[in-house]
Amino acid sequence: MNEQPHLAMATVIWVAASALSVLVLAAVEYRSGRQELFERAGSTETLLAEKLAQHDAHLSALGAIVRMSPAEPSPSIQGLSENILVRYPRIVEIATFRLDAGAARIFRYGKPAGATEESGRPLAELPKLSNVGDIASRALPGEQAYDIFKLVEPGRVLRLRIDANALLDGERASRDYSTTLTLNDETLAAHGGTERALLAATTRIAMTSHTQPLQLEISRYFGFGELVPLRLAVPLIIGWAAVIWLVASYRETQAERRRHEARAALLKQEAMLAHAGRVNALGEMASGIAHELAQPVTAMLSQSQAARRALAIGRQDILEKALDANIREAKRAGDILGRMRAYISGAPADIKMVPLDEAITEAMRLVEADIKARAISLNMVIFPDLPVVPIDVVSFQQVIHNLVRNAADAVARCPSPLITLTARREGDGVAIEVADNGPGIETGSLHRIFEPFFTTKPDGMGLGLPLSSRLIERMNGSLEAHNNGGATFVIRLPLGEPA
Ligand code: ADP
Repeated sequence: MNEQPHLAMATVIWVAASALSVLVLAAVEYRSGRQELFERAGSTETLLAEKLAQHDAHLSALGAIVRMSPAEPSPSIQGLSENILVRYPRIVEIATFRLDAGAARIFRYGKPAGATEESGRPLAELPKLSNVGDIASRALPGEQAYDIFKLVEPGRVLRLRIDANALLDGERASRDYSTTLTLNDETLAAHGGTERALLAATTRIAMTSHTQPLQLEISRYFGFGELVPLRLAVPLIIGWAAVIWLVASYRETQAERRRHEARAALLKQEAMLAHAGRVNALGEMASGIAHELAQPVTAMLSQSQAARRALAIGRQDILEKALDANIREAKRAGDILGRMRAYISGAPADIKMVPLDEAITEAMRLVEADIKARAISLNMVIFPDLPVVPIDVVSFQQVIHNLVRNAADAVARCPSPLITLTARREGDGVAIEVADNGPGIETGSLHRIFEPFFTTKPDGMGLGLPLSSRLIERMNGSLEAHNNGGATFVIRLPLGEPA
Protein backbone atom coordinates (compact mmCIF):
# COMPACT_ATOMS: atom_id res chain seq x y z
CA MET A 1 0.00 0.00 0.00
CA ASN A 2 2.78 2.38 0.95
CA GLU A 3 5.28 0.86 -1.51
CA GLN A 4 5.92 4.07 -3.50
CA PRO A 5 6.87 6.45 -0.65
CA HIS A 6 9.04 3.73 0.94
CA LEU A 7 10.91 3.21 -2.33
CA ALA A 8 11.41 6.95 -2.82
CA MET A 9 12.67 7.34 0.75
CA ALA A 10 15.09 4.40 0.39
CA THR A 11 16.39 5.88 -2.88
CA VAL A 12 16.95 9.29 -1.27
CA ILE A 13 18.83 7.70 1.65
CA TRP A 14 20.88 5.59 -0.73
CA VAL A 15 21.84 8.57 -2.92
CA ALA A 16 22.68 10.69 0.15
CA ALA A 17 24.76 7.92 1.77
CA SER A 18 26.59 7.22 -1.50
CA ALA A 19 27.27 10.93 -2.12
CA LEU A 20 28.55 11.35 1.44
CA SER A 21 30.79 8.31 1.11
CA VAL A 22 32.18 9.56 -2.20
CA LEU A 23 32.88 12.95 -0.60
CA VAL A 24 34.64 11.34 2.37
CA LEU A 25 36.59 9.14 -0.03
CA ALA A 26 37.61 12.20 -2.06
CA ALA A 27 38.66 14.04 1.12
CA VAL A 28 40.80 11.08 2.21
CA GLU A 29 42.41 10.81 -1.24
CA TYR A 30 43.01 14.57 -1.30
CA ARG A 31 44.67 14.46 2.11
CA SER A 32 46.97 11.62 1.18
CA GLY A 33 47.77 13.38 -2.14
CA ARG A 34 48.69 16.54 -0.24
CA GLN A 35 50.87 14.53 2.09
CA GLU A 36 52.64 13.04 -0.92
CA LEU A 37 53.10 16.58 -2.28
CA PHE A 38 54.73 17.79 0.93
CA GLU A 39 57.08 14.80 0.96
CA ARG A 40 58.05 15.39 -2.64
CA ALA A 41 58.53 19.13 -2.03
CA GLY A 42 60.73 18.30 0.97
CA SER A 43 63.05 16.08 -1.03
CA THR A 44 63.16 18.55 -3.95
CA GLU A 45 64.13 21.32 -1.54
CA THR A 46 66.93 19.19 -0.08
CA LEU A 47 68.33 18.36 -3.54
CA LEU A 48 68.08 21.96 -4.67
CA ALA A 49 69.74 23.28 -1.52
CA GLU A 50 72.66 20.90 -2.16
CA LYS A 51 73.04 22.19 -5.70
CA LEU A 52 72.92 25.84 -4.61
CA ALA A 53 75.60 25.10 -2.01
CA GLN A 54 77.71 23.54 -4.78
CA HIS A 55 77.41 26.79 -6.77
CA ASP A 56 78.70 28.72 -3.74
CA ALA A 57 81.60 26.26 -3.45
CA HIS A 58 82.47 26.64 -7.15
CA LEU A 59 82.42 30.43 -6.77
CA SER A 60 84.86 30.19 -3.84
CA ALA A 61 87.22 27.80 -5.65
CA LEU A 62 87.14 29.77 -8.90
CA GLY A 63 87.47 33.08 -6.97
CA ALA A 64 90.66 31.84 -5.34
CA ILE A 65 92.14 30.86 -8.74
CA VAL A 66 91.10 34.22 -10.26
CA ARG A 67 92.83 36.07 -7.44
CA MET A 68 95.96 34.03 -8.10
CA SER A 69 95.85 34.80 -11.84
CA PRO A 70 96.56 38.52 -12.36
CA ALA A 71 96.88 38.04 -16.12
CA GLU A 72 93.93 36.85 -18.23
CA PRO A 73 93.01 34.74 -20.10
CA SER A 74 94.43 32.36 -17.51
CA PRO A 75 95.07 28.70 -18.24
CA SER A 76 94.40 27.81 -14.54
CA ILE A 77 90.95 29.39 -14.66
CA GLN A 78 90.35 27.66 -18.00
CA GLY A 79 91.41 24.28 -16.55
CA LEU A 80 89.15 24.43 -13.50
CA SER A 81 86.28 25.85 -15.53
CA GLU A 82 86.55 23.09 -18.12
CA ASN A 83 86.41 20.57 -15.33
CA ILE A 84 83.35 22.17 -13.70
CA LEU A 85 81.39 22.54 -16.97
CA VAL A 86 81.96 18.89 -17.81
CA ARG A 87 80.96 17.60 -14.43
CA TYR A 88 78.07 19.98 -13.79
CA PRO A 89 76.07 20.35 -17.02
CA ARG A 90 73.61 22.78 -15.35
CA ILE A 91 76.48 25.33 -15.14
CA VAL A 92 76.48 26.50 -18.73
CA GLU A 93 79.07 29.25 -18.62
CA ILE A 94 81.88 30.62 -16.45
CA ALA A 95 83.14 34.13 -17.08
CA THR A 96 85.23 36.84 -15.45
CA PHE A 97 84.89 40.62 -15.84
CA ARG A 98 87.80 43.06 -15.60
CA LEU A 99 86.42 46.48 -14.93
CA ASP A 100 87.99 49.54 -16.47
CA ALA A 101 86.63 53.02 -16.35
CA GLY A 102 83.04 52.81 -17.71
CA ALA A 103 83.50 49.46 -19.53
CA ALA A 104 84.54 45.91 -18.92
CA ARG A 105 86.56 43.20 -20.58
CA ILE A 106 84.91 39.83 -20.39
CA PHE A 107 86.70 36.42 -20.51
CA ARG A 108 84.66 33.29 -21.10
CA TYR A 109 86.13 30.06 -19.77
CA GLY A 110 85.50 26.35 -19.87
CA LYS A 111 84.71 25.63 -23.53
CA PRO A 112 87.08 22.97 -24.98
CA ALA A 113 88.03 25.49 -27.63
CA GLY A 114 89.65 27.58 -24.90
CA ALA A 115 89.01 30.95 -23.27
CA THR A 116 87.64 33.84 -25.31
CA GLU A 117 87.94 37.55 -24.67
CA GLU A 118 85.47 40.29 -25.46
CA SER A 119 86.02 43.92 -24.58
CA GLY A 120 83.99 47.04 -24.32
CA ARG A 121 80.93 45.57 -22.59
CA PRO A 122 79.08 48.29 -20.61
CA LEU A 123 79.40 48.00 -16.86
CA ALA A 124 75.64 48.41 -16.54
CA GLU A 125 75.35 44.69 -17.31
CA LEU A 126 76.74 43.93 -13.86
CA PRO A 127 74.83 44.12 -10.60
CA LYS A 128 76.09 46.46 -7.95
CA LEU A 129 78.65 44.72 -5.75
CA SER A 130 80.23 46.99 -3.12
CA ASN A 131 82.58 44.79 -1.10
CA VAL A 132 84.96 42.07 -2.08
CA GLY A 133 83.21 38.72 -1.57
CA ASP A 134 79.71 40.14 -2.29
CA ILE A 135 77.49 37.82 -4.32
CA ALA A 136 74.33 38.65 -6.30
CA SER A 137 72.03 36.57 -8.51
CA ARG A 138 69.95 37.73 -11.45
CA ALA A 139 67.46 36.01 -13.70
CA LEU A 140 67.92 36.01 -17.47
CA PRO A 141 64.47 36.79 -18.79
CA GLY A 142 63.37 34.40 -21.55
CA GLU A 143 66.45 32.16 -21.25
CA GLN A 144 65.44 29.85 -18.39
CA ALA A 145 68.73 30.58 -16.70
CA TYR A 146 70.22 32.85 -14.05
CA ASP A 147 73.62 34.36 -13.35
CA ILE A 148 75.53 34.47 -10.07
CA PHE A 149 78.03 37.29 -9.77
CA LYS A 150 80.83 37.54 -7.19
CA LEU A 151 83.24 40.44 -6.61
CA VAL A 152 86.46 38.45 -6.29
CA GLU A 153 88.80 41.47 -5.78
CA PRO A 154 88.43 45.14 -6.61
CA GLY A 155 87.76 45.44 -10.34
CA ARG A 156 87.33 41.71 -10.93
CA VAL A 157 83.95 39.92 -11.02
CA LEU A 158 83.30 36.20 -11.47
CA ARG A 159 80.09 34.99 -13.10
CA LEU A 160 78.41 31.53 -13.18
CA ARG A 161 75.48 30.98 -15.54
CA ILE A 162 73.06 28.29 -14.38
CA ASP A 163 70.53 26.49 -16.57
CA ALA A 164 67.37 26.53 -14.42
CA ASN A 165 65.79 23.60 -16.28
CA ALA A 166 68.85 21.48 -15.65
CA LEU A 167 68.68 22.55 -12.04
CA LEU A 168 65.29 20.87 -11.81
CA ASP A 169 66.58 17.80 -13.62
CA GLY A 170 65.83 15.53 -10.69
CA GLU A 171 62.13 16.43 -10.95
CA ARG A 172 60.39 13.90 -13.09
CA ALA A 173 57.91 15.65 -15.31
CA SER A 174 54.38 14.34 -14.84
CA ARG A 175 50.77 15.29 -15.39
CA ASP A 176 50.05 15.08 -11.66
CA TYR A 177 52.75 17.53 -10.59
CA SER A 178 53.98 20.91 -11.76
CA THR A 179 57.19 22.59 -10.58
CA THR A 180 58.02 26.26 -11.04
CA LEU A 181 61.27 27.99 -10.13
CA THR A 182 61.40 31.78 -9.81
CA LEU A 183 64.06 34.32 -8.91
CA ASN A 184 62.97 37.81 -7.90
CA ASP A 185 59.56 37.19 -9.46
CA GLU A 186 61.06 36.13 -12.81
CA THR A 187 60.03 32.62 -13.83
CA LEU A 188 63.12 30.55 -14.55
CA ALA A 189 61.60 27.15 -15.26
CA ALA A 190 58.17 25.56 -15.21
CA HIS A 191 57.15 22.07 -16.13
CA GLY A 192 54.59 19.32 -15.64
CA GLY A 193 50.95 19.68 -14.57
CA THR A 194 47.62 19.49 -16.31
CA GLU A 195 44.96 22.00 -17.21
CA ARG A 196 42.09 19.53 -16.85
CA ALA A 197 42.51 18.85 -13.15
CA LEU A 198 39.47 18.95 -10.84
CA LEU A 199 41.42 20.16 -7.84
CA ALA A 200 45.01 21.24 -7.02
CA ALA A 201 47.13 21.55 -3.89
CA THR A 202 50.16 23.85 -3.94
CA THR A 203 53.15 24.41 -1.67
CA ARG A 204 55.68 27.26 -1.95
CA ILE A 205 59.20 27.07 -0.58
CA ALA A 206 61.65 29.96 -0.31
CA MET A 207 65.20 28.55 -0.57
CA THR A 208 67.28 29.62 2.39
CA SER A 209 70.41 30.37 0.26
CA HIS A 210 71.21 34.12 0.54
CA THR A 211 73.32 33.99 -2.61
CA GLN A 212 70.54 32.49 -4.76
CA PRO A 213 67.14 33.40 -3.16
CA LEU A 214 65.12 31.05 -5.40
CA GLN A 215 61.42 30.32 -4.92
CA LEU A 216 60.15 26.81 -5.53
CA GLU A 217 56.45 26.19 -6.19
CA ILE A 218 55.13 22.65 -6.49
CA SER A 219 51.53 21.78 -7.25
CA ARG A 220 49.78 18.46 -7.14
CA TYR A 221 46.76 17.96 -9.46
CA PHE A 222 43.85 15.66 -8.82
CA GLY A 223 41.62 14.29 -11.55
CA PHE A 224 38.13 12.92 -10.77
CA GLY A 225 39.26 9.34 -11.17
CA GLU A 226 42.03 9.90 -8.66
CA LEU A 227 39.84 11.59 -6.06
CA VAL A 228 37.09 9.01 -6.47
CA PRO A 229 38.76 5.71 -7.35
CA LEU A 230 36.12 3.47 -8.89
CA ARG A 231 37.58 0.35 -7.29
CA LEU A 232 36.55 1.83 -3.91
CA ALA A 233 33.55 3.97 -4.88
CA VAL A 234 31.64 1.23 -6.73
CA PRO A 235 31.77 -1.32 -3.87
CA LEU A 236 30.78 1.47 -1.46
CA ILE A 237 27.73 2.46 -3.50
CA ILE A 238 26.71 -1.16 -3.98
CA GLY A 239 27.35 -1.78 -0.28
CA TRP A 240 25.03 1.06 0.68
CA ALA A 241 22.34 -0.30 -1.62
CA ALA A 242 22.67 -3.71 0.06
CA VAL A 243 22.59 -2.23 3.57
CA ILE A 244 19.55 -0.06 2.82
CA TRP A 245 17.78 -2.98 1.17
CA LEU A 246 18.45 -5.18 4.22
CA VAL A 247 17.24 -2.49 6.64
CA ALA A 248 14.15 -1.81 4.51
CA SER A 249 13.31 -5.53 4.29
CA TYR A 250 13.82 -5.93 8.02
CA ARG A 251 11.53 -2.96 8.72
CA GLU A 252 8.97 -4.27 6.24
CA THR A 253 9.03 -7.67 7.98
CA GLN A 254 8.57 -5.99 11.35
CA ALA A 255 5.73 -3.84 10.01
CA GLU A 256 4.11 -6.92 8.43
CA ARG A 257 4.41 -8.76 11.76
CA ARG A 258 2.83 -5.83 13.60
CA ARG A 259 0.00 -5.65 11.03
CA HIS A 260 -0.51 -9.38 11.42
CA GLU A 261 -0.64 -9.08 15.20
CA ALA A 262 -3.05 -6.15 14.99
CA ARG A 263 -5.27 -8.15 12.61
CA ALA A 264 -5.17 -11.14 14.93
CA ALA A 265 -6.05 -8.93 17.91
CA LEU A 266 -8.92 -7.40 15.94
CA LEU A 267 -10.23 -10.80 14.91
CA LYS A 268 -10.03 -11.96 18.49
CA GLN A 269 -11.94 -8.91 19.62
CA GLU A 270 -14.53 -9.42 16.92
CA ALA A 271 -14.90 -13.04 17.91
CA MET A 272 -15.37 -11.99 21.53
CA LEU A 273 -17.95 -9.40 20.51
CA ALA A 274 -19.76 -11.88 18.31
CA HIS A 275 -19.81 -14.35 21.14
CA ALA A 276 -21.10 -11.70 23.53
CA GLY A 277 -23.70 -10.76 20.89
CA ARG A 278 -24.78 -14.38 20.56
CA VAL A 279 -25.03 -14.78 24.31
CA ASN A 280 -27.07 -11.57 24.43
CA ALA A 281 -29.33 -12.59 21.59
CA LEU A 282 -29.79 -15.99 23.16
CA GLY A 283 -30.76 -14.38 26.46
CA GLU A 284 -33.19 -12.05 24.73
CA MET A 285 -34.60 -14.88 22.72
CA ALA A 286 -34.98 -17.13 25.74
CA SER A 287 -36.83 -14.42 27.64
CA GLY A 288 -38.90 -13.70 24.52
CA ILE A 289 -39.83 -17.37 24.15
CA ALA A 290 -40.66 -17.62 27.85
CA HIS A 291 -42.79 -14.50 27.58
CA GLU A 292 -44.56 -15.61 24.43
CA LEU A 293 -45.22 -19.14 25.64
CA ALA A 294 -46.37 -18.03 29.09
CA GLN A 295 -49.70 -16.81 27.74
CA PRO A 296 -50.87 -19.97 25.88
CA VAL A 297 -49.47 -22.24 28.61
CA THR A 298 -51.31 -20.28 31.35
CA ALA A 299 -54.49 -20.34 29.23
CA MET A 300 -54.11 -24.12 28.70
CA LEU A 301 -53.67 -24.60 32.44
CA SER A 302 -56.81 -22.67 33.35
CA GLN A 303 -58.80 -24.31 30.53
CA SER A 304 -57.64 -27.76 31.67
CA GLN A 305 -58.72 -26.95 35.25
CA ALA A 306 -62.09 -25.77 33.90
CA ALA A 307 -62.37 -29.01 31.89
CA ARG A 308 -61.74 -31.03 35.02
CA ARG A 309 -64.42 -29.13 36.94
CA ALA A 310 -66.84 -29.54 33.98
CA LEU A 311 -66.14 -33.31 33.98
CA ALA A 312 -66.83 -33.46 37.76
CA ILE A 313 -70.15 -31.71 37.43
CA GLY A 314 -70.97 -33.50 34.17
CA ARG A 315 -71.17 -30.37 31.99
CA GLN A 316 -70.37 -31.72 28.53
CA ASP A 317 -70.72 -28.27 26.86
CA ILE A 318 -68.18 -26.55 29.13
CA LEU A 319 -65.80 -29.51 28.72
CA GLU A 320 -65.97 -29.23 24.94
CA LYS A 321 -65.33 -25.44 25.05
CA ALA A 322 -62.40 -25.93 27.38
CA LEU A 323 -60.86 -28.61 25.15
CA ASP A 324 -61.38 -26.40 22.04
CA ALA A 325 -59.66 -23.55 23.82
CA ASN A 326 -56.80 -25.88 24.73
CA ILE A 327 -56.39 -26.97 21.11
CA ARG A 328 -56.32 -23.30 20.03
CA GLU A 329 -53.73 -22.39 22.62
CA ALA A 330 -51.59 -25.45 21.81
CA LYS A 331 -51.72 -24.47 18.10
CA ARG A 332 -50.71 -20.92 19.00
CA ALA A 333 -47.78 -22.22 21.06
CA GLY A 334 -46.77 -24.44 18.12
CA ASP A 335 -47.09 -21.45 15.80
CA ILE A 336 -44.86 -19.35 18.06
CA LEU A 337 -42.22 -22.07 18.18
CA GLY A 338 -42.39 -22.59 14.40
CA ARG A 339 -41.79 -18.94 13.63
CA MET A 340 -39.07 -18.81 16.23
CA ARG A 341 -37.35 -21.72 14.49
CA ALA A 342 -37.68 -20.03 11.13
CA TYR A 343 -36.10 -16.88 12.54
CA ILE A 344 -33.20 -18.69 14.16
CA SER A 345 -32.59 -21.14 11.34
CA GLY A 346 -29.58 -20.30 9.23
CA ALA A 347 -30.64 -22.57 6.35
CA PRO A 348 -29.56 -21.04 3.02
CA ALA A 349 -32.29 -19.61 0.78
CA ASP A 350 -33.44 -21.81 -2.10
CA ILE A 351 -33.26 -19.18 -4.80
CA LYS A 352 -34.78 -19.79 -8.23
CA MET A 353 -35.71 -17.62 -11.16
CA VAL A 354 -39.45 -17.06 -10.81
CA PRO A 355 -41.87 -14.74 -12.69
CA LEU A 356 -42.63 -12.05 -10.10
CA ASP A 357 -46.32 -11.69 -10.91
CA GLU A 358 -46.87 -15.42 -10.40
CA ALA A 359 -45.06 -15.36 -7.07
CA ILE A 360 -47.22 -12.43 -5.89
CA THR A 361 -50.51 -13.96 -7.06
CA GLU A 362 -49.64 -17.22 -5.29
CA ALA A 363 -48.70 -15.40 -2.07
CA MET A 364 -51.89 -13.33 -2.13
CA ARG A 365 -54.04 -16.44 -2.56
CA LEU A 366 -53.02 -17.53 0.93
CA VAL A 367 -54.18 -14.29 2.59
CA GLU A 368 -57.13 -13.29 0.42
CA ALA A 369 -59.63 -15.35 2.39
CA ASP A 370 -58.56 -13.81 5.65
CA ILE A 371 -58.77 -10.27 4.20
CA LYS A 372 -62.17 -10.90 2.80
CA ALA A 373 -63.36 -12.30 6.13
CA ARG A 374 -62.26 -9.08 7.81
CA ALA A 375 -64.05 -6.94 5.17
CA ILE A 376 -60.87 -5.24 4.04
CA SER A 377 -60.60 -3.95 0.46
CA LEU A 378 -57.58 -5.09 -1.51
CA ASN A 379 -56.15 -3.09 -4.39
CA MET A 380 -53.54 -4.94 -6.51
CA VAL A 381 -51.51 -2.85 -8.96
CA ILE A 382 -49.33 -5.34 -10.88
CA PHE A 383 -47.47 -3.64 -13.73
CA PRO A 384 -47.46 -5.71 -16.94
CA ASP A 385 -43.69 -5.79 -17.68
CA LEU A 386 -42.66 -7.57 -14.49
CA PRO A 387 -39.54 -9.70 -15.01
CA VAL A 388 -38.36 -13.04 -13.74
CA VAL A 389 -36.58 -12.54 -10.41
CA PRO A 390 -34.23 -14.70 -8.32
CA ILE A 391 -36.22 -15.49 -5.16
CA ASP A 392 -36.88 -18.20 -2.61
CA VAL A 393 -40.61 -18.63 -3.31
CA VAL A 394 -41.56 -19.97 0.12
CA SER A 395 -39.68 -17.19 1.92
CA PHE A 396 -41.14 -14.58 -0.42
CA GLN A 397 -44.69 -15.79 0.29
CA GLN A 398 -43.98 -15.77 3.99
CA VAL A 399 -42.85 -12.12 3.77
CA ILE A 400 -45.90 -11.04 1.75
CA HIS A 401 -48.07 -12.92 4.22
CA ASN A 402 -46.44 -11.14 7.20
CA LEU A 403 -46.76 -7.68 5.62
CA VAL A 404 -50.39 -8.15 4.53
CA ARG A 405 -51.33 -9.61 7.89
CA ASN A 406 -49.71 -6.64 9.67
CA ALA A 407 -51.54 -4.24 7.33
CA ALA A 408 -54.80 -6.06 8.06
CA ASP A 409 -54.16 -5.72 11.78
CA ALA A 410 -53.43 -1.99 11.30
CA VAL A 411 -56.61 -1.20 9.35
CA ALA A 412 -58.85 -3.34 11.61
CA ARG A 413 -60.53 -0.35 13.19
CA CYS A 414 -60.61 1.91 10.10
CA PRO A 415 -63.98 3.00 8.67
CA SER A 416 -63.00 1.90 5.11
CA PRO A 417 -60.03 -0.41 5.46
CA LEU A 418 -57.84 -0.69 2.36
CA ILE A 419 -54.63 -2.52 1.55
CA THR A 420 -52.80 -1.66 -1.67
CA LEU A 421 -50.19 -3.98 -3.17
CA THR A 422 -48.08 -2.54 -5.98
CA ALA A 423 -45.40 -4.37 -7.97
CA ARG A 424 -43.26 -2.50 -10.53
CA ARG A 425 -39.83 -2.28 -12.07
CA GLU A 426 -37.53 0.15 -10.36
CA GLY A 427 -33.97 0.94 -11.41
CA ASP A 428 -32.01 -2.30 -11.81
CA GLY A 429 -34.61 -4.36 -9.97
CA VAL A 430 -38.20 -4.56 -8.81
CA ALA A 431 -40.12 -2.96 -5.95
CA ILE A 432 -43.13 -4.55 -4.21
CA GLU A 433 -45.06 -2.18 -1.96
CA VAL A 434 -47.63 -3.13 0.69
CA ALA A 435 -49.46 0.01 1.85
CA ASP A 436 -52.44 0.44 4.15
CA ASN A 437 -54.66 3.29 5.27
CA GLY A 438 -54.29 2.46 8.96
CA PRO A 439 -52.86 4.74 11.65
CA GLY A 440 -49.29 4.21 10.45
CA ILE A 441 -46.31 3.10 12.51
CA GLU A 442 -46.20 4.75 15.93
CA THR A 443 -43.96 7.78 16.08
CA GLY A 444 -40.67 6.82 17.67
CA SER A 445 -41.08 3.13 16.79
CA LEU A 446 -40.08 3.36 13.15
CA HIS A 447 -36.48 2.51 13.87
CA ARG A 448 -37.37 -0.33 16.22
CA ILE A 449 -39.92 -2.34 14.27
CA PHE A 450 -37.23 -4.59 12.74
CA GLU A 451 -35.81 -5.48 16.16
CA PRO A 452 -36.74 -8.98 17.35
CA PHE A 453 -39.56 -9.01 19.93
CA PHE A 454 -40.56 -5.44 19.31
CA THR A 455 -44.34 -5.35 19.21
CA THR A 456 -47.14 -2.95 20.07
CA LYS A 457 -49.83 -5.61 19.90
CA PRO A 458 -51.13 -7.24 23.08
CA ASP A 459 -50.78 -10.71 21.53
CA GLY A 460 -47.91 -9.80 19.15
CA MET A 461 -44.57 -11.59 19.07
CA GLY A 462 -42.43 -8.95 17.37
CA LEU A 463 -40.78 -11.50 15.10
CA GLY A 464 -42.70 -10.98 11.83
CA LEU A 465 -40.76 -7.96 10.55
CA PRO A 466 -37.23 -9.02 11.66
CA LEU A 467 -37.83 -12.43 10.09
CA SER A 468 -39.17 -10.84 6.86
CA SER A 469 -36.22 -8.47 6.68
CA ARG A 470 -33.79 -11.34 7.12
CA LEU A 471 -35.49 -13.48 4.47
CA ILE A 472 -35.43 -10.64 1.92
CA GLU A 473 -31.74 -9.97 2.68
CA ARG A 474 -31.02 -13.61 1.88
CA MET A 475 -32.43 -12.90 -1.59
CA ASN A 476 -30.00 -9.95 -1.83
CA GLY A 477 -32.88 -7.53 -1.44
CA SER A 478 -34.00 -5.05 1.20
CA LEU A 479 -37.10 -4.27 3.21
CA GLU A 480 -37.90 -0.81 4.49
CA ALA A 481 -40.81 0.92 6.12
CA HIS A 482 -42.19 4.44 6.18
CA ASN A 483 -45.35 6.29 7.05
CA ASN A 484 -47.29 7.51 4.08
CA GLY A 485 -50.77 8.32 5.33
CA GLY A 486 -50.86 4.78 6.68
CA ALA A 487 -47.81 2.51 6.74
CA THR A 488 -45.94 1.48 3.61
CA PHE A 489 -43.49 -1.43 3.42
CA VAL A 490 -41.25 -1.67 0.35
CA ILE A 491 -39.46 -4.85 -0.74
CA ARG A 492 -36.66 -4.23 -3.26
CA LEU A 493 -35.18 -7.18 -5.17
CA PRO A 494 -32.41 -7.26 -7.74
CA LEU A 495 -32.70 -8.89 -11.16
CA GLY A 496 -30.17 -11.34 -12.49
CA GLU A 497 -29.16 -14.93 -12.15
CA PRO A 498 -29.11 -16.57 -8.71
CA ALA A 499 -25.67 -16.34 -7.09
P1 ADP B 1 -46.00 -8.32 15.55
O1 ADP B 1 -46.87 -8.25 14.35
O2 ADP B 1 -45.98 -9.62 16.24
O3 ADP B 1 -46.11 -7.15 16.46
P2 ADP B 1 -43.97 -7.54 13.70
O4 ADP B 1 -42.51 -7.66 13.74
O5 ADP B 1 -44.62 -8.06 12.49
O6 ADP B 1 -44.51 -8.20 15.00
O7 ADP B 1 -44.35 -6.00 13.86
C1 ADP B 1 -43.73 -5.23 14.83
C2 ADP B 1 -44.50 -3.95 15.08
O8 ADP B 1 -44.44 -3.10 13.94
C3 ADP B 1 -45.94 -4.10 15.30
O9 ADP B 1 -46.22 -4.46 16.64
C4 ADP B 1 -46.46 -2.74 14.95
O10 ADP B 1 -46.32 -1.85 16.03
C5 ADP B 1 -45.58 -2.29 13.88
N1 ADP B 1 -46.23 -2.50 12.57
C6 ADP B 1 -46.00 -3.50 11.69
N2 ADP B 1 -46.76 -3.34 10.58
C7 ADP B 1 -47.48 -2.21 10.77
C8 ADP B 1 -48.47 -1.51 9.97
N3 ADP B 1 -48.86 -1.95 8.77
N4 ADP B 1 -49.02 -0.37 10.50
C9 ADP B 1 -48.60 0.08 11.70
N5 ADP B 1 -47.69 -0.51 12.50
C10 ADP B 1 -47.15 -1.67 12.02
